[in-house]
Amino acid sequence: MDLKKYIAIVPDWPKPGIQFKDITPLMNDGKAFRYATEQIVQYARNKKIDIVVGPEARGFIIGCPVAYELGVGFAPVRKEGKLPRETIKVEYDLEYGKGVLTIHKDAIQPGQRVLIIDDLLATGGTIGATIKLVEQLGGIVAGCAFLIELTYLEGRKKLEGYDVLTLMEF
Ligand code: IMP
Repeated sequence: MDLKKYIAIVPDWPKPGIQFKDITPLMNDGKAFRYATEQIVQYARNKKIDIVVGPEARGFIIGCPVAYELGVGFAPVRKEGKLPRETIKVEYDLEYGKGVLTIHKDAIQPGQRVLIIDDLLATGGTIGATIKLVEQLGGIVAGCAFLIELTYLEGRKKLEGYDVLTLMEF
């Protein structure tokens, strides 16, 4: 299936010069959404995944159906101040300033094999911070899966040594 058909490219959003990749048409189409989910599930099947981790908000949308299909749990990574219990946090660089991501301290047990899922790999800042959170809790990053990779931003360089799947490249 040609998944790119289901990605809307929105010029100059949210800022002039950015070509935003909008995944909502893909989510809107049951067959395309299922197909994309199944591609990630197949990739993960032989990785003995114990838990899926996804950063807010679109990591939840892709990560949860994959976790359901694998029969494992899902742990959310969120911006600071959103998770109600004890968390650990990691700072990462944004285009302007710093971002902070957090995860519940008890979300991952040491030695658990983790699949990290997000909608899109751009500079790799978000996934890099998510990997740090998982590893600080003693998790093993068994794979990272994305619908979309913006290859020109070279986020893969931050993922050297990790197993990565992307379904579409722009
Ligand atoms: P990175 O941290 O630079 O790799 O950016 C990836 C994060 O920003 C992901 O969590 C994406 O959801 C979000 N993001 C960046 N650009 C886009 C886009 O064009 N479409 C959808 N999400 C994007």
